[in-house]
Amino acid sequence: MLPPTRAEDVTDLPDGIALLHHFANTEDVRGFVSHGRRLTGHDDLATPRDLERWLRKHDLLEGDTSETRAHQGHLARALALRTALRAVLRQGVEDSRDGAVAVDYSFNVILTGGHGAQLTIAADPVDTALAHIVMAALTATANGTWHRLKMCLAPDCQWIFYDNSRPGRAKWCSPQLCGNRMKTQAYRRRQTA
Ligand SMILES: [Zn+2]
Repeated sequence: MLPPTRAEDVTDLPDGIALLHHFANTEDVRGFVSHGRRLTGHDDLATPRDLERWLRKHDLLEGDTSETRAHQGHLARALALRTALRAVLRQGVEDSRDGAVAVDYSFNVILTGGHGAQLTIAADPVDTALAHIVMAALTATANGTWHRLKMCLAPDCQWIFYDNSRPGRAKWCSPQLCGNRMKTQAYRRRQTA
């Protein structure tokens, strides 16, 4: 079994979770060996242009005008959001209040009549796109999928995965890859101790 090359290769994700999963995994720190090949990791959001490209690819940004250009400020906000997201998805964090991370976003909410309440984010297109990622976390909390999005416990992996197991207590993104590797390392440590 090969690990996914890109987050987008993982397709069996519930609606809404895919966006969070793909965004959180734009920081890929995997450095373990799989099938004789060492994963090298990468950062998909290294520059403002990368951020723009990523948001377009995920249908969060449309058009190509000066308004839709991402700048360093946008990138800094995107990275802060990603850092916060990865920090709270680290397993075990939910047990502690200290694990809570504040995401510094301000929304202008516009309520309209007629068709019911409508939430509109009043910000420039790039910040609006980032706000939609924050909104996906709120939606996932509401529909009960949030607690199944986790960071793999293997230190040389830290991939964000969706726990599809029935009990919902998976520790590894892949029991075959990361689970076995961690168990083998623990066994070796006990042998040499
Ligand atoms: Zn893993």
